[in-house]
Amino acid sequence: LQGLIVKALSGYYYVQQQVDDIASGGDHRKTVQCRGRGILKKKGIAPLVGDQVLYSLTENGEGTVEELLPRKTELIRPPVANIEQAVLLFSVKEPDLSLHLLDKFLVHVEDANLEPLICFSKMDLIDPDDTQTLAEVEQARLLYEQIGYKVILTSAEDGLGTASIRAELSNRISMFAGQSGVGKSSLLNAIIPGSTINTSEISMRLGRGRHTTRHVELIELDGGGYVADTPGFSQMNFTQLGVDLEDLGSCFREFNEYSDGCKFRGCTHLHEPGCKVTEALAQGEIAESRYKHYQLFYQEMKDEKRRY
Ligand code: GDP
Ligand code: ZN
Repeated sequence: LQGLIVKALSGYYYVQQQVDDIASGGDHRKTVQCRGRGILKKKGIAPLVGDQVLYSLTENGEGTVEELLPRKTELIRPPVANIEQAVLLFSVKEPDLSLHLLDKFLVHVEDANLEPLICFSKMDLIDPDDTQTLAEVEQARLLYEQIGYKVILTSAEDGLGTASIRAELSNRISMFAGQSGVGKSSLLNAIIPGSTINTSEISMRLGRGRHTTRHVELIELDGGGYVADTPGFSQMNFTQLGVDLEDLGSCFREFNEYSDGCKFRGCTHLHEPGCKVTEALAQGEIAESRYKHYQLFYQEMKDEKRRY
């Protein structure tokens, strides 16, 4: 049988039956409590929440995870496999929108091969007369949409954007990410009726130290699809997340259509002659804020490398 691990706790894997199994028998999507086959441990294979597995049923109604199917993505913190989409939440106020931090999250997301969905949250906090903030948000939305990202404006307070997010969550596995206080739990609770997720509490717990790990659980959505109940990426530096300096450029998605034309292989796009990325920057085809953050992150990563 094939299933999806939706939860792992105290040596048990909770494996949810997949649709094919339902077609061939039962009418409900069952979750089976499974142990891992000993051979997995011997081989050093640790099943993760999000893994698609092959499992067998045992006589006591439990099951055994026999084999893991290949992973599409894999995150270390939180430990979860096959997340396809990262919903990046950035509040427009309290705290103010930080494109520096947004670009940093985007690097992590691109490096992990997840598809980002950018949300500008707490839109209701902008005074309708505050044309300057409104214009800044609009400019940011255009910038990221031009790069090719989806951007949704949201408010957990008045429901703005929740239907759009719900639509984007269906039929895939997603994870929310963003600084503490941007409204992740409020939005998740608005999207998933009856859920009582409290991510603030979780981020605080994670903040205590590196050794604190939390169990991730996938929550199934009514419209299909799953959301991890634990946020990812907050307060992590590049080294901890395993981003390599050589990969930084390709994590800026809009650089890629130019970087192939750079004169030197492995061009850092910082000072090399014949660099097509800096050329595109000079022609206004690449946004200055994005390039500035690239330069900053490059330096940050070099400094981190020296320290670790
Ligand atoms: P998290 O740490 O990212 O999970 O953030 P929370 O969901 O706990 O929200 C942090 C604070 O912002 C709480 O006081 C929420 O009531 C408030 N908040 C969250 N979303 C919104 C929103 O859309 N509008 C307003 N006005 N406040 C919000
Ligand atoms: Zn270059």
